[in-house]
Amino acid sequence: MGKDGGNNTLMKCVFCGGELQTNSVTFSYEENETYILVEHVPAEVCPQCGERLYTPEVTDALLQFTKQQIEPVRVIQVPVYEFTKIHRVVKYMPMYS
Ligand SMILES: [Zn+2]
Repeated sequence: MGKDGGNNTLMKCVFCGGELQTNSVTFSYEENETYILVEHVPAEVCPQCGERLYTPEVTDALLQFTKQQIEPVRVIQVPVYEFTKIHRVVKYMPMYS
């Protein structure tokens, strides 16, 4: 592999300074209580805090997508939880040293 790409600059996370790594992520989008997931979206992901960065091309494609009517590859059920119910179960645990 040559170094003529010029597109290989290591980007740093704006939040923690971690070195972003090219990865495949699931993009989630919500509108009027309808949740949409787009799988295998290329992104620069921070291994330290999980921050994601999309290239302008990818951002553009995702914005275009949300305006289009495309058949999903599959439909999944999404469980919804109420935090106050979780909170009653999950008590603060003492830290052991
Ligand atoms: Zn980070």
